[in-house]
Amino acid sequence: MGGVKLESLARPSVLTQPVYEPGKPIETVARELGLDPAGIIKLASNENPFGPSPKAIEAARRALEHGELYPDGGCFELRKKLSEVHGLAPEQFIVGNGSNEILEFLGRVFLCPGDEVVMGSPAFVVYRLVTTLFEAKAVEVPLVDFRHDLPAMARAVTPRTKLVFVGSPNNPTGPGNTAAEVLAFARSLPPHVVLAFDEAYADYQEAPADLGPLIREGRAVICLRTFSKIHGLAALRIGFGYASAEMVTLLNRVRQPFNVNAIAQAAAIAALGDRDFVAMCARENRAGKLRLQAGLAALGFEVAPSDANFLLVRVGDGQRWFEDLQRRGIIVRPLRPYGMPEWVRITIGTPAQNERLLREMGVPPA
Ligand SMILES: *Cc1c(COP(=O)(O)O)cnc(C)c1O
Repeated sequence: MGGVKLESLARPSVLTQPVYEPGKPIETVARELGLDPAGIIKLASNENPFGPSPKAIEAARRALEHGELYPDGGCFELRKKLSEVHGLAPEQFIVGNGSNEILEFLGRVFLCPGDEVVMGSPAFVVYRLVTTLFEAKAVEVPLVDFRHDLPAMARAVTPRTKLVFVGSPNNPTGPGNTAAEVLAFARSLPPHVVLAFDEAYADYQEAPADLGPLIREGRAVICLRTFSKIHGLAALRIGFGYASAEMVTLLNRVRQPFNVNAIAQAAAIAALGDRDFVAMCARENRAGKLRLQAGLAALGFEVAPSDANFLLVRVGDGQRWFEDLQRRGIIVRPLRPYGMPEWVRITIGTPAQNERLLREMGVPPA
């Protein structure tokens, strides 16, 4: 027994792997600060404040009654539904345990040690985590006006570049790139580069960029979507990608047989069918965004533009505001881990949550 330090046996990239810092769960904050969880609101992880569609909840309940059966690992019914909604063949969809899992599939399939991966900075940290896990090199290109600087990213591509990640709208900043910009950028990429276009917040946009034409042209492009945001199913962990059937076949090779559970699949199908609910959430989000933008500006804060369900707010000392608001029962996201210590990211809530936030933001930290 003993003698060997386990760390000496680990792959080097595991030891240097940065740790993802998620938004704090309500129960954790309640426990740490001795607060009543019922009085805490979480505006930290861009979840849907209206919850899941009632139809999705009902479908999940029904699916649970057959919890003894393994799920359909191929997600046949869900891919059929996605095919109807998105106008592509069912073979062009891959379903993951959250779209985060599909980001990891991309690493497993495409990244070799020494490959380069071009991404924006700041952008979703998982792009960097996947890159370093597979011993590839992250080439980070600063954003301009809170959006991806696509011309600069195109210039950062070299013969070693394997993957490019573009989030639009971008998390943690808010704005997206225009459809024309993204299409021109994608068509300028050399054929040895795969473009992963992360559309986690596209449902909140009035005119999201449609990369369908690129996929039909046979380009190495995959678009990623999630049920965690406007569909309100973050707890169930389900997201999907659409691409060429060739790309989907490759990604399926590195997928666990039952990576997506049956309850999530059933809920996702029902969620896609409830267009009224999605439209209501998008409408409420737009109204809440205007209300918060006006209210925060009136309080003297700089607010970045946003096409998503969150706002980036320059508060001065982001960590201090985060801790202070947390003591008052509101969880937001400090952006120090993203190299933006003066900013916090705030998810747009229900009208009542937004008003409570504005009241508390009117009172500076003690
Ligand atoms: C929330 C989010 C996702 C979705 O992650 P899931 O694993 O599907 O919950 C993906 N990309 C970005 C940029 C996000 O903000």
